[in-house]
Amino acid sequence: MYPAEFEYFSPRTIDEALALLSTWGEDAKILSGGQSLVPMMKLRIASPRCLIDINRIDSLSGLRVDEGRLVMGALCRHADVAASALVREHLPLMLDAVSQTADVQVRNRGTVAGSLAHADPAGDWPAALLALDTHLTVVSPRGQRTVALETFLVDAYTTDLAVDEIVTEVAVSLPRPPAGGAYVKFEKRAGDFAVASVGVQLTLEGDRCSDVAISLGALGAIPSRASAAEAELRDQPVTDERLDRAADLVREAAQPFEDTRGSVEYKRHLAGVLFTRAFAVAADRARGSRVSTLHL
Ligand SMILES: Cc1cc2nc3c(=O)[nH]c(=O)nc-3n(C[C@H](O)[C@H](O)[C@H](O)COP(=O)(O)OP(=O)(O)OC[C@H]3O[C@@H](n4cnc5c(N)ncnc54)[C@H](O)[C@@H]3O)c2cc1C
Repeated sequence: MYPAEFEYFSPRTIDEALALLSTWGEDAKILSGGQSLVPMMKLRIASPRCLIDINRIDSLSGLRVDEGRLVMGALCRHADVAASALVREHLPLMLDAVSQTADVQVRNRGTVAGSLAHADPAGDWPAALLALDTHLTVVSPRGQRTVALETFLVDAYTTDLAVDEIVTEVAVSLPRPPAGGAYVKFEKRAGDFAVASVGVQLTLEGDRCSDVAISLGALGAIPSRASAAEAELRDQPVTDERLDRAADLVREAAQPFEDTRGSVEYKRHLAGVLFTRAFAVAADRARGSRVSTLHL
C-alpha cells in the first residue's frame, strides 16, 4: 500500500527541526531510520501530514564515550552498535540485543533512539536497555532535559515525549568490573520480534551477586524490571536454590498478553527459562568468559 500524502522536510540543524515541529505540532512525525514509521504509514496505521527527516543533521550521528557513559546520537544505527569494539568489550548485553534485532537491512537504517521513541512492547532496545543505567536527552524550544528510560516508557507505543520534543542522545553507563550482562530473546523465526526476552546485568564479587538488574521484554505492555527477583539475588551468594526462587519471581513479574506468538501461560514459562539462561551467561561473562547467547 502507499502512504497518504505528506509534506517532507529535511532540516540540517536541530533548531530547524524544532522550529518545524513547533509549526506542524501533532501533524508532524520525526523520521529517523523509518523502519517502524514507514511500514506504519504504508499500512495507514499512521498518516502524518508532515515528515521531518533528521538524517541530514550531522551532529546526531555516531557513538562516543563521555564520562564513563556510552553516548549514542539519535542517528546511531543498530549496525553502529553491532560494529562497536567498546560495546563488544563492556556492554555484551547490547551486542546480544542488536545481533537478534531484525535483519541486516533494518539494522543498517534503524536507530536506537527511534526504537525507544517507538516503544514497541516487543522491541529489543527498550527491553535490553532497561537492564542498564540508560538516560535519554530530549530537546524542545523550552530547552533540554534528561530522562531515565523507565520514566520515558509510559505504555505500549507511548512515551513521555511532548509533541514538540526530539530525542537527541541515548546514554548508557559503562558497568564497572567485575560485571557481566546478557540479553536472551526467544523468537519464532530469525529476525522476528520477541515472543519473550530477558536481560540480566550483574556484578559478581566471588560467588556473591553484589548487584543485579533483570528486565523483561514482550512480557507486558511495556518492558519492566523484575524487582522482587532482583531483591532475592542482590547481596547474596549465588546458589541453585536462590536462582530457582528468582526464576519463580520472574514468572510472577511477567504480565504477558495472549497473541499469535503464544498464550499467557507459555510466555510466563518462557520468562523463567530465559531468565535462567541469561543469568548463567551474565555470570560467566562477569568471570571473564567470552560466551555467546546465540546458541542458547
Ligand atoms: C522487517 C522488520 C523487522 C524488524 N524486527 C525487529 C526486531 O526483531 N526487534 C526490534 O526491536 N525491532 C525490529 N524492527 C523495528 C526496527 O528496529 C526499527 O528500526 C525501530 O523500531 C525504529 O527505529 P527507526 O530509527 O527506524 O525509527 P522510525 O521508524 O524512523 O520512527 C519510529 C517512531 O519514533 C519516532 N522517532 C524516531 N526518532 C525519533 C527521535 N530522535 N526523537 C523523537 N521521536 C523519534 C518517529 O516519529 C516514529 O513515531 C523491525 C523492523 C522491520 C521493518
